[in-house]
Amino acid sequence: MKEIIKKIKDINKEYNYFNIVSEDFKNENKGKLNNLLISVKDCICVKNLESRAGSKILEGYIPVFNATVTQKLINEGAIIIGKTSQDEFGFGSFSVNTYNIPKNPFDKLRTCGGSSGGSAGITKKLSELKIEHVSIAESTGGSIACPASFCGIYGFTPSYGLVSRYGLIDYANSLDKIGVMADSLKNIKKVFDIIKGYDEKDSTSLNKELNKDDKIKKVAVIKESLNVNPEIKELILKKVKEKFGTYDIISLPLIEKYAIPVYYILAMAESSTNLAKYCGMRYGASLELKGNFDEYFTDVRTKYFGQETKRRIILGTFTRMAGYRDAYYIKAAKVRNLIIQEYKKAFKKYDLLISPTMPVIAPKFSEIEKLTPLENYMMDILTVGPNLAGLPHISCNAGFSKKEKMPIGIMYIADHLNDYKLMNEKLN
Ligand code: GLN
Repeated sequence: MKEIIKKIKDINKEYNYFNIVSEDFKNENKGKLNNLLISVKDCICVKNLESRAGSKILEGYIPVFNATVTQKLINEGAIIIGKTSQDEFGFGSFSVNTYNIPKNPFDKLRTCGGSSGGSAGITKKLSELKIEHVSIAESTGGSIACPASFCGIYGFTPSYGLVSRYGLIDYANSLDKIGVMADSLKNIKKVFDIIKGYDEKDSTSLNKELNKDDKIKKVAVIKESLNVNPEIKELILKKVKEKFGTYDIISLPLIEKYAIPVYYILAMAESSTNLAKYCGMRYGASLELKGNFDEYFTDVRTKYFGQETKRRIILGTFTRMAGYRDAYYIKAAKVRNLIIQEYKKAFKKYDLLISPTMPVIAPKFSEIEKLTPLENYMMDILTVGPNLAGLPHISCNAGFSKKEKMPIGIMYIADHLNDYKLMNEKLN
């Protein structure tokens, strides 16, 4: 074990996959996981291990309890190896909105994707070293699928409500889902089976049975998702043909048109509400008490929140304000329902809907710097749909780009509670 700890620390020095590596690689519990190494995204609480969701405002926060998922894993004998780096509170697609930026395992000048970038990077690296490991990540609008695609591994996001959010440092409650990253479908299933299940501590936890039938009969590729780099399009269509023989191409126009604005309005509205608690009084960092409450509150937040977090607080607060609420927040909530219906109609006919995971390969940090906030948000065009609808989805590696030799991800989406279809060996 000593050797493995050293390897993990060495990798971390070079690639920044962890905000903190555990000092204690022991678990006396015997169970289904039998000392399997598990890394946990920084926003999911692990008892006695600093958990700060990639934010400066939570520096020094050491939970006195385990998130439900963490506890379930420990009960089954898992060894928690550390907290993985991420965009602050999950705000981003490249894990650059934070103090510890993970580098892509294939090319250090490129991003791992985000916001669960550290989880994806370490999953790939340990897989190369043949060290068995699984990572627990979180997705609000694509934060599991995107980095899985950029790092060439499996990234599974369950149906909303199947995995307890108790002990997760929230981004947006109606969207957040804890999921699994691994280098095999077998390990995705093994860990998912342990972390899923009703939890009375989470008021949005779902108390329903999963569909056990994992058969895949009919699939369709989403037409609008093929408006991407031609190399990605060709590779995806080739893969689908290889795996399923025949497939349909169907149009989901509402999703193409509205998923991005609806997602960003709702996600920012919810996140700005969740962040209100970091006011320097009870949660997170504080300063010397000076001025009136507004001045003090502003000083703390100015000092400790990153730029993207501030942008989201301002936009999110705006869309919830009296006078604007009906035009933005309420309208977005209504269109979200139409989007769900568009998917539901498609699932009457198909078992899986397929698209590329991301419209591009992992960009270079120098390219990311040049993106405007809107260009950044547009990168999520393919992943926000299933996340808004709470649908289970998985990103798998489809191959590599010819010139840059970077991984390209294919995303499969299933209907609610049909999560097991995404673990069908056919997707391997
Ligand atoms: N990139 C998206 C965002 O910034 C998704 C992030 C996530 O799923 N946590 O909101």
